[in-house]
Amino acid sequence: MSARYILRFDDVAPGMAWSRFLPLKQFIEEQGVRCLLGVVPCCRDASLFVEPERADFFDLVRLWQSFGDTVAQHGAFHVYETAQAGVLGINSRSEFSGLSLEQQLRKLGEGKAILQREQVWQPYFMPPSHSFDRDTVRALKSTGFVAITDGMGFFPYALDDFRLVPQLLSRPLAFPFGVITICVHVNAMSDHEVERLRRFVTKHRSSFVSFKEIVQEPINDGPSQAFLRWITSHALKAVRAGRRVMSKDVLGQVD
Ligand SMILES: [Zn+2]
Repeated sequence: MSARYILRFDDVAPGMAWSRFLPLKQFIEEQGVRCLLGVVPCCRDASLFVEPERADFFDLVRLWQSFGDTVAQHGAFHVYETAQAGVLGINSRSEFSGLSLEQQLRKLGEGKAILQREQVWQPYFMPPSHSFDRDTVRALKSTGFVAITDGMGFFPYALDDFRLVPQLLSRPLAFPFGVITICVHVNAMSDHEVERLRRFVTKHRSSFVSFKEIVQEPINDGPSQAFLRWITSHALKAVRAGRRVMSKDVLGQVD
């Protein structure tokens, strides 16, 4: 048994760090790796404007999609409205958790409409700051989504009959098993981190899979997978309590 990896880019938006992202993306494409791109439908988060905006942003997204990348809707506006950590309990801030079902439905729908107008919408959701609640799941279901890129453990599972594909790593680390999502925030990457990711992709390129491929597989969940989820969830709580039981590479997501 060996691990399969999903390479996930968060905060794909018109004002992202293009000078860093475009060369890295080209290199990854040359390795034949299909990515998961968290596209912000209408970015109103000032912290995500780090380089001049590109007017051809959605042209680029369409190009990446035609290459085989998967697009996940990364929120709607990427603006936090509550201090709720939601189901996963990772970050105490959210664009969705704690809002009413109606508010969440409206916001999800607004984001979806923008991506549909640009012909890039796919039925996958990437919650900003890893925060979503049971009403988010209900809203996602009735808005036509089929999976979230987030969750505990090492294998896809279901929450309220909705598919979660776990995301634990913020840096590339090799694992002996599981479906491992590596979450990358290109705006905050150092040269060293870019180089480390390039080396990892080169070494493991045949083990990368596309997100939509994983979503199409049947869920194989059982007691051992649930136990691994319990372990990762409790390890996360320990990290949050300030105990250094795991490297910051694991469960070190920020956004
Ligand atoms: Zn984000």
